[in-house]
Amino acid sequence: MTDTTRQPPAHAPMTGFTVDGNELVVGGLPLSRLAARVGRTPFYAYDRGLLDARIAELRAALPPAVKLHYAMKANPMAALVAHIAQRVDGIDVASGGELKVALDAGADPHEISFAGPGKSEAELRQAVAAGIMVNVESFREVPVLAAASQALGLPARVSVRVNPDFELKSSGMKMGGGPKPFGVDAEEVPRLLAAIGAAGLAFEGFHLFAGSQNLRAEAIVEAQRKSFELALRLAEHAPAPVAFLNLGGGFGIPYFPGERRLDLAPIGAHLAALVDEAASHLPQAQIVLELGRYLVGEAGVYVCRVLDRKVSRGHTFLVTDGGLHHHLSASGNFGQVIRKNYPVAIGTRMDAADTESVTVVGPLCTPLDLLAERMALPAAAPGDLVVVFQSGAYGASASPQAFLGHPAVTEVLV
Ligand SMILES: *Cc1c(COP(=O)(O)O)cnc(C)c1O
Repeated sequence: MTDTTRQPPAHAPMTGFTVDGNELVVGGLPLSRLAARVGRTPFYAYDRGLLDARIAELRAALPPAVKLHYAMKANPMAALVAHIAQRVDGIDVASGGELKVALDAGADPHEISFAGPGKSEAELRQAVAAGIMVNVESFREVPVLAAASQALGLPARVSVRVNPDFELKSSGMKMGGGPKPFGVDAEEVPRLLAAIGAAGLAFEGFHLFAGSQNLRAEAIVEAQRKSFELALRLAEHAPAPVAFLNLGGGFGIPYFPGERRLDLAPIGAHLAALVDEAASHLPQAQIVLELGRYLVGEAGVYVCRVLDRKVSRGHTFLVTDGGLHHHLSASGNFGQVIRKNYPVAIGTRMDAADTESVTVVGPLCTPLDLLAERMALPAAAPGDLVVVFQSGAYGASASPQAFLGHPAVTEVLV
């Protein structure tokens, strides 16, 4: 029987997953049964119920007028994108390959936008043919889009991605402010808007993305306020009314001990005020948030199997069949400055106490291949399943799967 009220013990404090006896439950199935169903380890599993709960939580916290987009670079698995596309208001893609997945998933082309600092001519042409919106990030894109528009006899729908004149404070990865390859510097935007108007492109709005993985609501509120005010100033130079105002996202999730969950309430309250201000100053504008990690990160686990248990000079290593080739982020090599452990559990010993300090490694011949370093865990043996939580974003697609020639990872939506 599944006990839906019991949460995983202290070594996995950050998740919405439940436990049935010894086993973690993912997508309604005890983990060893899910592993048998998948047929092999390692695998990623994304829990539909948790995805839906996260979207519902956001919808409840944000004003109904705010549109929710999924930035699919966080997790481009086709089935997951299709699931989410039916539940959000739009998809943000960052390549022609992602555009294909979004269109295959049935997303409405009118609600797809395309950002990225190096869009090829072929990608820009694909975008015009698909009828999606391009977030222009360079003067170079303007004549390319105009030519594609003319050749295809279709409008080139564009927003301007602005590199703001401020930074997102306390964000894990800064993507705006100062010199950046992303977007066009705010002070250059009036000139870009004139070029867009002169080239006859269909201007529809602004896109501002200040950074990623932020856990401080005040910092996000401040960035949204400044983004809004900057967009208001720039709108005076626009060749057409602003229809979309994409204020970015940057909502973070807790990974490490001591990190506090993002408080949505102040963000929702502030956005309600912005919606009111937009109604009088930019009456045609829809406010859009684009979230990647926050939508999917906590709904996913990475599961691998213990192959060996080795003691080296008094320290115990659990050697698993999974590692950095599938999960670069958990190994600490995707944007972490100082390596910290992701939350990890032995998914087949959930009701056992943490009785030893172990290091969980993968099969690769490199000391970087760490899943958990000196972590308190229950005693595990070959055959047990190791679970890495907070693995729904920047996992499989952000990892060097060919490194060392092990099999690629399987992904399931359950
Ligand atoms: C990466 C990216 C996102 C998603 O960031 P998260 O931190 O995963 O929410 C959103 N918008 C743009 C433009 C991005 O490049």
